[in-house]
This record gives sequence, structure tokens and C-alpha cells, in this order.
Amino acid sequence: MLRKIGVLTSGGDSPGMNAAIRAVTRTALANGIEVVGIRDGYKGLVEGLYEPFTRRSVAETISMGGTILGSARLPEFKEEEVLMKGVNKLKENGIDAVVVIGGDGTYRGANALTQHGINCIALPGTIDNDIEGTDFTIGFDTALNTIVECVDKLRDTSNSHHRCSVVEVMGNRCGDLAIYSGISCGAEVLITPETGYDEEAVLEKLKYLENQGTSHAIVIVSEKVCDVQALAEKVSKATGFAGRATILGHIQRGGSPTPNDRVLASRMGAKAVELLIEGKGGECVCIRNNEITSMSIDECISLTRSSRKEFYRLFDRLV
Ligand code: ATP
Repeated sequence: MLRKIGVLTSGGDSPGMNAAIRAVTRTALANGIEVVGIRDGYKGLVEGLYEPFTRRSVAETISMGGTILGSARLPEFKEEEVLMKGVNKLKENGIDAVVVIGGDGTYRGANALTQHGINCIALPGTIDNDIEGTDFTIGFDTALNTIVECVDKLRDTSNSHHRCSVVEVMGNRCGDLAIYSGISCGAEVLITPETGYDEEAVLEKLKYLENQGTSHAIVIVSEKVCDVQALAEKVSKATGFAGRATILGHIQRGGSPTPNDRVLASRMGAKAVELLIEGKGGECVCIRNNEITSMSIDECISLTRSSRKEFYRLFDRLV
């Protein structure tokens, strides 16, 4: 019998986490289950930073970016002793199960708790879309919108000054933010973990486009693939464009979630509580072909990244 559940956010924040917390809280309360908000991820779980939640606790949060529960990293949560401290703290407080919202590290923590008798359900809360088994993660759509808005603005000024803007976007070794924004903004060049980085080829392509009469160019680069500042300098030296680097950085993580992220987070939050009511644990919620479903966390973290070949082919055709 499920009497009381906890909800926490962990890892990097993402827009839509609050909508997920809200959906978890209200779905649980509607089913007669008490809810406790756990502050600061697994750190707060171990330290007992628990707050009883009512319907009002999550009022007016659906449009807010970030996470009202705060987030923190606690690498020691991998250690049996620290984990057991957390398990005991939950038991002392009568918490039977937990919904966690975060990235793959957060998923591993949820699995460990489940193996120690606390059923956990994980929701994909990250802008990077780097979780397998789900088409989209909570926050991806909002971050994509932010990137598109910024790159559209950069294009205006690049156009006026015969520039090549080299723009670094986030993604944590996943190229989805780059390929989706590259297509959305009509970028000229894309550099992602999937394309790899071939400096000569990039410069040749820019020179070719220049010879074709292109007045300016946008190069979208996934973080951790190459140094955008160095690339912009090379562009200035090797082509007729003035290269300028822009690192969008944490601006991509903030802001009010888009309606798509609010709806996704709400659907996923409700599903998490349904799974707990069914007595399930060690599962993560996914969206596939617009259907909310779930899979085991073990399976999810063992999957290898699926390729976006069709998107890359499309990008190449449209340049
Ligand atoms: P992001 O995508 O933003 O990095 P994340 O959830 O992957 O999010 P991590 O810092 O990797 O972020 O993990 C968040 C927290 O999950 C860690 O600080 C730690 O408390 C817990 N965690 C990570 N890996 C494990 C593990 N193997 N076992 C138990 N807990 C873990």
C-alpha cells in the first residue's frame, strides 16, 4: 500500500521540471497519497530536507523555469554507506517510494534505491535529449527554442557584416540540440559528435559557399567537439568571412518552459505516479511516437545512442 511518496530533481536543471513536480504532486494527492518535496536531489534525500507538499505547494509553478526543489550533485551517493543513510532517512519519514527527475546519473541513483527496497520511477529531465529510449526529454524543446531565437538574431548581424558566426550549443555529447537548431535556423555548417570535426572540410565548405555568393554563414557546433574561438579565428584567416564565436552557455538552460515541455512533463509526471501505484520501481518514463510509456532503467542505460542519419541527410540537402 502506497501512502507517501517523495519527489526530487537532480543533476542539471531543465525547464519543465516544475511542471513534472506539479503533476506528480497533484496526481498523487488525487489518489490519496501524501507527497513530500525533497530539496537538493540525493543530497537532500540523505540529509532529510523534506517538506510536506499540498496542492498549493506547486501552485503557479507550471510556467517557471529551473526547479523549485533545487538540485545538487552528491557523487558519494554511489557508496553503499551513503545510499543506506538515504534509505533509512526515507523509512524514518514513512516515504515508500520516490519520483526522481534528472539525467542518466539520476537514473542510476533511482535504480540503486529501488534495489534497496524503495521503489523509484525516473523522469528524463535534461535539455540535452541525451537519454535513450525516449524521443524527447523534458526541457529539450525549450532549450531548442532559446537557441533558435539567439541564432536568428546572430544571423541578422552576420548578414549585415559579411560574417561567419560559429555558435556553440549544449548537448553533452548528444548532437540533437545542434541538428534540430541547425535545420531550424538554416545553418550552413554543422559540427556534432555524429559528424566529427574535420577542420579542412569545414573551411573548404565555407569557401565554396562564399564563391557561390553566400553573404554570411552560421556554423552550429555541439559543445565538447571543438574550440569555437579557435575555429572562428581560422575562418577569418582562411576565408573571406570575418569569423565570430558565440558560446550560448547556460542561457540555454533557463527560461519559462514551452507549452510542449509543460505538456510532456505533465504527462510524464502523472505516468510516474500511476506506475508507483501499480507497485513498479526501477522504471523510467519515456515518450515514443507521442505515446507515454516506460521501460526498465537497466535497459535504458544499456542502450546505445540511436543515429539521426535522416536528419543529417536532410540538413545536407537543404544547405
Ligand atoms: P545531467 O544530465 O544534468 O548531468 P545527471 O542526472 O546525469 O544530469 P549526474 O551528476 O551524473 O547528473 O548525477 C546526478 C546525481 O545522481 C549524482 O550527483 C549522484 O548523487 C547520483 N548518481 C549518479 N550516478 C550514480 C550511481 N551510479 N549510483 C548512485 N547514484 C548515482
